[in-house]
Amino acid sequence: MAIMKYAPQALKNLFLKPVTKNYPAEPAVYPQGTRGHIDISIDDCISCGMCVRVCPSNALSVDKIKGTWTINRFDCIACGYCAVKCPKKCLFVNPGYQEPKDGKPDETYTKSPEVLAAEEAKRKEAAAKAAAAKAAMEAKKKADEGQ
Ligand code: SF4
Ligand code: SF4
Repeated sequence: MAIMKYAPQALKNLFLKPVTKNYPAEPAVYPQGTRGHIDISIDDCISCGMCVRVCPSNALSVDKIKGTWTINRFDCIACGYCAVKCPKKCLFVNPGYQEPKDGKPDETYTKSPEVLAAEEAKRKEAAAKAAAAKAAMEAKKKADEGQ
C-alpha cells in the first residue's frame, strides 16, 4: 500500500513550518555575496572610463562632458569586475535583483548640476593654464631667437 508509505511524512508535514516564503508580502532576503545588480554613486564618479575598459561584456559607457554613466542591464553579467577596478569605489554590487521593466535595457545616471558645474570650472581652469603655459613658451622661444 503506497499510501501507508507516505502517511508518516504527510503527518509530520502537518506540524512543520512552510518551506516557502510568502513573497512578495514578505521581502526576499538575499544571502551574503549575492550578485544582484550594479549600482553607482554617480557624483563620486570621475569619468575615468576604467569600468568601461574592464567590462567583459561591453555593457558600460561613460560621457565625460555630459557627466553620464550608462549600463545596459541586459548585457551586464553581474561579474562585479567594474566595482573592483573603479578607482573611486563608487560602483557597488547590490545583492537585490532589479524589478522587471519595459523599454530599453540602457539605464543612464547623470551627475548633479553642482558637480557638473564644478567639473566644467576645473576644465576651464586647466585650459586657461595650458594656454598661459603655451604663450609663455612661445614668448621665450621668440626671445631666444632674437638673441
Ligand atoms: S558587473 Fe561585469 S558585466 Fe556588469 S557592468 Fe560590471 S564589469 Fe560589466
Ligand atoms: S571606473 Fe568608477 S570613476 Fe571611473 S568611470 Fe567608472 S564609475 Fe566612474
